Amino acid sequence: MTGMEQASCVRVAARSQALADQMFAVPDSGRVDRRARRAARRLCDSCPVRDLCLSEALARRTRDNVLAGGLTYQERCVLSHEIAADLGVTLWGLASVSPSTVLAWLREHPRAVERARSCTRAYWRDRKRSSSAALAQGRLF
Ligand code: SF4
Repeated sequence: MTGMEQASCVRVAARSQALADQMFAVPDSGRVDRRARRAARRLCDSCPVRDLCLSEALARRTRDNVLAGGLTYQERCVLSHEIAADLGVTLWGLASVSPSTVLAWLREHPRAVERARSCTRAYWRDRKRSSSAALAQGRLF
């Protein structure tokens, strides 16, 4: 077997699309089932096509909040910043980098996914603070 047919989420969806949606997608209500999300992350972490899945999501800047490669959209943003800085491109410039380059980068940096997960909360908190400060000083408009 090669390619996406090996993907853990595809195998879950083959059994139950509703369960796959509950685990990997975000419902219309916006409320994520935390237990299901944790289980999905564990499946992603051992998924045989994880690097491929993640490199595609990063290179294509997949913006929806589905889990891809075991990372949420917010976590993929943090990882994108690190990859873009390391490759010497802007965040938007990352879209012009091929998925195979991103894939190679991920394989050279096996701890990057865990790093992105662990610093996402602080990253977005700092972003929110600096946006609020800029807004208060009238610098955003
Ligand atoms: S890593 Fe990607 S392909 Fe694999 S289970 Fe997770 S979302 Fe699916």
